[in-house]
Amino acid sequence: MTIEKERITMLHGAGGMVMHNFVKDHIVKNFGGLDSFAEVPLEAMDDAAVIGDIVFKSDSHAVKPIFFPGGDIGRLSISGTVNDISALGADPCALASGFILEEGLPLDDLTRILESMRQTLIEAGVGIVTGDTKVVENGSLGGCVMNISGIGKRSFALENNLQTVKKYRPHFSARWTLDSNLEVGDKIVLSGTVGDHGLAVLSAQKGLTFGSKIVSDVKPLNKVIQRTLCEIGGVVTMKDPTRGGLADALNEFTEKSKTGILLQEDKIPIRKDVAIACEMLGLDPLEIGNEGKMLFGVVPQKAEEVLTFLTQTVEGKDAQIIGEVTDAFKGVAMQTIVGGKRIIARPIGDPVPRIC
Ligand code: MG
Repeated sequence: MTIEKERITMLHGAGGMVMHNFVKDHIVKNFGGLDSFAEVPLEAMDDAAVIGDIVFKSDSHAVKPIFFPGGDIGRLSISGTVNDISALGADPCALASGFILEEGLPLDDLTRILESMRQTLIEAGVGIVTGDTKVVENGSLGGCVMNISGIGKRSFALENNLQTVKKYRPHFSARWTLDSNLEVGDKIVLSGTVGDHGLAVLSAQKGLTFGSKIVSDVKPLNKVIQRTLCEIGGVVTMKDPTRGGLADALNEFTEKSKTGILLQEDKIPIRKDVAIACEMLGLDPLEIGNEGKMLFGVVPQKAEEVLTFLTQTVEGKDAQIIGEVTDAFKGVAMQTIVGGKRIIARPIGDPVPRIC
């Protein structure tokens, strides 16, 4: 009798519970504890690591197809790394690019991707300072995959933000906006609509149209975040709800902060066409990845101000306060429109494959 050996599946890279456990049981198991200099180490499994006053992040992108409504793999890669560095409150200052190109990729496609990256870098005000390029035989890459690593530094905006938090919470001692910083009463602010990116990529993968044009929200958020920290403050944590969507990101908050979050369904911004497409396809928009949205945990005294500030920006025009941190239960629950309560569990994995 042959015993089937366990192999890597698409779920191991789909965000959610399977990927989370895989990273913990294999990556962190082997590399955790070796980085004795890190203030926020690998095993914290936050958006990025912290070494001294530097935030360090690496992110690979294997989106399929490499061009999709509203973006491409180049814009996605820059935005992904910039947003993860920004989630810790740091100001991204330099990036490194690693390209793995597939033999046969049209040079015109690569040129388009590079131009898109250049535009995104200008938008974010960050440069690529080093990198590497490799080519592999024609296979299943779908043209190319890429890695963007980057560093960010402490900024005046972050210092100002933490001072504001301390005004209302004198015991607050965190130096960065970590997942574990939430406390009871904090408000959860979401910067805009959810589900757009995952559905835009799905439409490109399957050749679907949803009656209207759903485009990806992919964009760098560092500037709006630094402005929010500088001009308003009171932000205790941030996280970009990428693979696994809102459901995964919020569960990560509650696990690390050892709290509960109660969401208000009627406050969660979802485009009508996205909601209809999700219903048609049997998908939960709360589990679908986003690439241009940020979740903010904010001290209650500053939440309305943060919301008002965000709604006056392009990136945050649809922002809402979607919930509150509670000690009434652990995990994430949602007050539904019809008056019931629904548990929002951590998804097994993002329902749409290769969205980033
Ligand atoms: Mg992240």
